[in-house]
Amino acid sequence: TLEEELDPFGSYTITFDGNDYKVNMPNVFSTDSFEAEFTYTGSDLGAVWTPEKTTFRVWAPLADEVYVNLYESGDASAEDLIDSLPMTEDVNGTWVLEAEGDRNGVYYTYTTVTGDEVREACDPYARTTGVNGDRAMVIDLDSTDPAGWENDVNPHAGEKITDAVIYELHMRDFSADASSGIENVGKYLQFTEKGTKTAGGAVTGIDYLKELGITHVHILPMYDFGSVDETTGGYNWGYDPKNYNVPEGSYSTDPYNGAVRVGEVKQMVQSLHNEGISVVMDVVYNHVQSGEDFCFNRLVPGYFSRINENGSYSNGSGCGNDTASERSMVRKYIVDSVCYWADEYHMDGFRFDLVGLLDVDTVNAIVEEVHKTHPDVIFYGEGWTMTTNVTKTNMVMATQTNSAQTPGFAYFNDKIRDGLKGGVFNDMETGYISGGSGGSFEVAKAFTADSAWCKSPAQTINYASCHDNLTLFDKLQKSRSDASREDLIRMNNLAAAIYMTSQGVPFMQAGEEMLRTKVNADGSFNSNSYHSGDEVNSIKWSDLEKEEYQQVLEYYKGLIAFRKEHGVLRLDDAQAVQEHVSRVESVPQNVLAFYLTGGVENETAEEMFVIFNANPEAAEVTLPAGGWSVYINGETAGTQALEGVSGKVSVAPISAMVLIQDDSVPVVEQPASEEDGQDENAPAVSEPTEKESVNIVLIGVVCAVVLAVVGAVLIVLGKGKRNKK
Ligand code: CA
Repeated sequence: TLEEELDPFGSYTITFDGNDYKVNMPNVFSTDSFEAEFTYTGSDLGAVWTPEKTTFRVWAPLADEVYVNLYESGDASAEDLIDSLPMTEDVNGTWVLEAEGDRNGVYYTYTTVTGDEVREACDPYARTTGVNGDRAMVIDLDSTDPAGWENDVNPHAGEKITDAVIYELHMRDFSADASSGIENVGKYLQFTEKGTKTAGGAVTGIDYLKELGITHVHILPMYDFGSVDETTGGYNWGYDPKNYNVPEGSYSTDPYNGAVRVGEVKQMVQSLHNEGISVVMDVVYNHVQSGEDFCFNRLVPGYFSRINENGSYSNGSGCGNDTASERSMVRKYIVDSVCYWADEYHMDGFRFDLVGLLDVDTVNAIVEEVHKTHPDVIFYGEGWTMTTNVTKTNMVMATQTNSAQTPGFAYFNDKIRDGLKGGVFNDMETGYISGGSGGSFEVAKAFTADSAWCKSPAQTINYASCHDNLTLFDKLQKSRSDASREDLIRMNNLAAAIYMTSQGVPFMQAGEEMLRTKVNADGSFNSNSYHSGDEVNSIKWSDLEKEEYQQVLEYYKGLIAFRKEHGVLRLDDAQAVQEHVSRVESVPQNVLAFYLTGGVENETAEEMFVIFNANPEAAEVTLPAGGWSVYINGETAGTQALEGVSGKVSVAPISAMVLIQDDSVPVVEQPASEEDGQDENAPAVSEPTEKESVNIVLIGVVCAVVLAVVGAVLIVLGKGKRNKK
């Protein structure tokens, strides 16, 4: 009990037993009274440049004094301070300073004085920085625009998220292998190099992306992260944010000059747009590289991150600190940041790392604000459920489970990922494509965008592999070391055929279409290559000089082309899926079949029939009545009819078959088989019988119990792993 009324923003010390203890009151920041007084809603935070003056505004509500420090260079080790100018206290905890004259290219930091604590920090709203992101730079942003930038637009404007085919790529992986033929290795400018080839003549680089047919390239973190020293270069995935509104310096040709990285990102985006490819940024707002050192937390200690009662950081991500998205100025910061990338850099999409740590109000605010001016920007993220110490009550987190509360935001579907090839936490586990018995249920559900967590195809990202865990081909090689290479490739291609024809948004790790493998020096497969370097991670373009790899690539190209030609595969609401896609039940074991009807946007086919055969032997499947043309089989995929069939078809071992109803194909009478009286009829489309349903439920319950135990163990192990990242 205090003698005087508690000042929630005051600094208190408790003396006990001869020792002084500083009092922590971090959640004061989340009270209504604090937010009422200290929420700034203006759009001028940071350094706003004009030729006549630059206006600095920073939010530092706890500070007694704030200064702008102007520097000659952006290198934090250089002692080249020009001036330190006092700022004036303004509304809602902000401080302002107008500096006369043209300050373009001047580097700066802020210093706050709070009691006897003096802290220098970069500007959280820095538009660019010097080397390694320690000093911000005043910049005339328009001067960094490449010629024609004002006419640059999203090449997929006006399309639905389910029209996207997403290709996930790391900057260095794309060009680090010498066979790429690309000069700007690991740089933004690699995407401006056309005509690149391997020594043997295989197409690489941006030309390759265009020929592949993907619609969106998703680039692993390319905002400024801290794990790579920009003075020397190096390899890291980059999930360790340092400056959210600044491009990473090691991917620019000059990390010392803050203007270069800004201009080069714009050149990258423009070049991709010119080739018909949209750009998605991988953003990591859920944590920062260092809770202590992050500039926002240096200016307002403890504000950006969730802090436990004992003063430690809440650490649901395993990355050291969780972002307090529920606080008004953090929410504004994230919304402002995403809007800035969409506005200034023309980004067409955002992939959110561990978005399950952010609250749904923040996520919805982001989608709403960005869509006001960029309605075609797509959003998706990792909606895994994690434990985090949210600082307000009744907050709902943006997880898969809560997906209905963020209708404009999609989530990765781990059900199809694990159903296809086995769980990611057990390298040896197999799935539907690789001979496992448990996966077919989830694969079938995912095909109709009917996984338990979500019924909307527009919120479902379907995939077989991403940067995390083993590559698809390594997972197959490891879990099915008994299988022939030919069969492993069949499994790989079957996986692709499934997620490329499923309702939802197809997503693939770069190189999956050329059997990408990540092999350590000792020959083992690498399942977490976040800092494993170029040799393990780079795409080995010279593989494409070999027939086997070219065939897989051609198969993927054909799948993508087929998907793009058929609107019935790209439905964007659950109702339409129910009306146009149904599972066919009377098929052999380990075979999945689906019957689709046309009459939807961008669909010329009247009927489509899709068959997946996971058996190591051929399967006989009865087609619906009439003539059919095969467009996809185990060998070939594309938009050209391969052969005409009717009645019964034989589907090759471990393969897909996709057919379109075709009146020009003559219907051949087939002799009725003895054991099956249904031959003359189309296969029945039905729900599982009651008994089957009960069995499914029973299997589900047993699996759930086993998974819960295994999951608990793996979460503990997983946290240790994640820490390293
Ligand atoms: Ca950096």
